[in-house]
Amino acid sequence: MYDIPLFDLNYDERETKAVTEVLESKWISSGPKCAELEKVFSDALSCKHAFCLANCTDALHLALLALGIGPGDEVIVPSLTFVATVNCVRYVGADPVFCDVVSKEDLTIDPAGIEKLISDRTKAIIVMHYGGFACDMDAIMAIAKKHGLKVVEDACHGPLSEYKGKKLGTIGDAGCFSFFSNKNISTGEGGMIVTNDDALADKMRLMRSHGMTTMSYQRAQGHSTKYDVVELGYNFRMDDIRAALAIVQMEKLPGDLKTREKIRKRYEEKLSKIDGLIVPFTDRTEFSSNYIFPVVLKEGDEARRDAVRGFLQEKGIQTSVHYPAAHRFSIHKDARRGDLTNTDFVTDCEFTLPMYAKLTDEQIDYICEQVKKALEEN
Ligand SMILES: *Cc1c(COP(=O)(O)O)cnc(C)c1O
Repeated sequence: MYDIPLFDLNYDERETKAVTEVLESKWISSGPKCAELEKVFSDALSCKHAFCLANCTDALHLALLALGIGPGDEVIVPSLTFVATVNCVRYVGADPVFCDVVSKEDLTIDPAGIEKLISDRTKAIIVMHYGGFACDMDAIMAIAKKHGLKVVEDACHGPLSEYKGKKLGTIGDAGCFSFFSNKNISTGEGGMIVTNDDALADKMRLMRSHGMTTMSYQRAQGHSTKYDVVELGYNFRMDDIRAALAIVQMEKLPGDLKTREKIRKRYEEKLSKIDGLIVPFTDRTEFSSNYIFPVVLKEGDEARRDAVRGFLQEKGIQTSVHYPAAHRFSIHKDARRGDLTNTDFVTDCEFTLPMYAKLTDEQIDYICEQVKKALEEN
């Protein structure tokens, strides 16, 4: 075990109580808690529709299904992301096209790169708000409008994060969130899709549950006894046990994010004094969820980065890499791509430091000291 893990779950007796209540209610699958969570989530994001799902991979899949993306279509995606952002394009038979990130300081998808990659087949763009820092949505939405493209936001890193006063996930056609254990909202597995488009919402509601016109909870309540199947849907549903966890996590989220903001400030203050280290997004002022804290070596390669991580591990500090670039995975190696210079550098030279509300000032200072030593000695 690490002395300082990358992430620590923000759980207490409230989660235990919430789950116990659901278990005792004897309705454990999708039901009143899922409905309550959808209301809480759409209110928090000021968006019209939110649907609980089993995970964010399903949310991304559902977004593309509902938008009618299919075989022969191309979808422009970042490569510096978790591979699910890319895999979902293949689920619907479309082809991902890899786009670079803006720079070593701004790890979000590059609008200029997107524009260069547009072909006759391009139907959509998936953006990923890295670490809870917004992509350049004005530029991306303008490109989408000009070329008639759909925009899906992979907002897994950014619940409650903002771009020009709007919550991330509510700017494009659909926004996708994850409640995986190590995310800002943790339920083990879990996810959410949001949209302001009523027609799209109708599709999502059907497609997440077998294309059936009613769900079992409605039938159990006596609201209906029959159903039709009108679309080739899937089972993407969440259950009420996880929804109850997410409701408690949503209550805690604003406080948790405030603490993360302070942690980020302290990190930035200390790390900006270290030569040879880039701290991305230091120019950002809008509210961010600070899901992770990435840093990038100014000079180096994968071997040096791994040596630095090895040094930190010996000092009891867990680190990670966000992310091994998706375009290098065997399964995506043949996908069309633009220039990926920044992505290639960042994927080799980035590492992620611990980030969670329980980190103490002493721990942050210790981590920064050890990062300095790690760079000096490697
Ligand atoms: C976690 C994550 C996913 C996948 O979420 P799951 O809920 O585990 O399916 C997708 N994209 C990004 C950027 C993520 O961080």
